[in-house]
Amino acid sequence: MKIYSKVYLPNKKLYKKYVDRIYEKSWVTNNGELKKKLEKKLEKFLSVKNLILVSSGTIGLQIAYKVLGLSGNVITTPFSYVATSNTLIWDGLKPKFVDIKKDSLNIDVSKINSKIDKKTSAILPVHVFGNPCNIFEINKIAKEKKLKIIYDASHCFNTFFKGKSVLNYGDISVMSLHATKIFHTIEGGAIITKSDQLAKKIRMMINFGKDQEDNYKMLGINAKMNEFEAAMGLSNLSEFKKIIKYRKEIWVTYKNYLADFFQLQDLNLNSNPNYSYFPIIFKNEKKLLNAMYNLEKNNIFVRRYFYPSLDQIYANKNYGICPNSREISKKILCLPISNDMTKINQLKIIEILKLSQIKNN
Ligand SMILES: *Cc1c(COP(=O)(O)O)cnc(C)c1O
Repeated sequence: MKIYSKVYLPNKKLYKKYVDRIYEKSWVTNNGELKKKLEKKLEKFLSVKNLILVSSGTIGLQIAYKVLGLSGNVITTPFSYVATSNTLIWDGLKPKFVDIKKDSLNIDVSKINSKIDKKTSAILPVHVFGNPCNIFEINKIAKEKKLKIIYDASHCFNTFFKGKSVLNYGDISVMSLHATKIFHTIEGGAIITKSDQLAKKIRMMINFGKDQEDNYKMLGINAKMNEFEAAMGLSNLSEFKKIIKYRKEIWVTYKNYLADFFQLQDLNLNSNPNYSYFPIIFKNEKKLLNAMYNLEKNNIFVRRYFYPSLDQIYANKNYGICPNSREISKKILCLPISNDMTKINQLKIIEILKLSQIKNN
């Protein structure tokens, strides 16, 4: 049997109940009943003011750049998924990579100022693996330099900062609800903002620029979430307690057994782990490759995530070079977490990893 991070699928009967409702109403997309219901439930569950569901996290980021009117250069981190900087480039913006801290894995705030120039319009940090950035310091810089802040909060479902959802910070936060994330709608994303005015514009932008009376008010695109995806979200939300429970158990077990053998991410003290990922950092890439080899021999599959560092993908583009991010991305693995993981299998993974650390190679 293969062991890897499997997608969570909710109770089929529950999902089917929602699908029956879709058939009954013959309404499959375009601001449907289930999508509206999921938006309301998520706003409440996450304690955020305006949450707009979209068809992916990627397009959510693009909508955020458009509605905030970004131009020129955007400060960001190379230690992220490729979507973070690809979306900037796709929209004619230039990423300016600022290196990360090797402990938190988040953008090194002390290095931001030196990368800001006349063309800079925004900062796009990532709360890596759901670990909040130095939010107050980033706010201070943005205020001083009159920059917008967009958080790539793809990993931040259920992440709190000083007791409030981390999604409340920045001009806009964008979450991914892709199947690989801790809470998912198959494909999907969410745009979160405190500003009612921005929210109103975003709702038009994701629907071809139309207002509620079908007047074309602005340039828009299609980024709508459909009813089948919303049904998946509603089903997963009703099981979220259960999802967190099994993830927490697995996460804590990894931590108890592996903390003495590997460098782990330093978590922000104002926050809580959200049990999305369990990354471990090896002493060097050779040890990582050796461990992967031994795991795969036992049918256990882990993810090199994030790899490679984005500044290496765009090495010839003059976006900046970031040694810390390059080093970490070569040495980091995310361990499997899934609901059908047995204790025996998890202990097998732990044993192989421990051995690979002890062995002198
Ligand atoms: C998953 C992810 C994205 C992309 O989200 P999609 O919903 O797959 O488009 C962007 N940024 C980060 C950090 C991610 O992990």
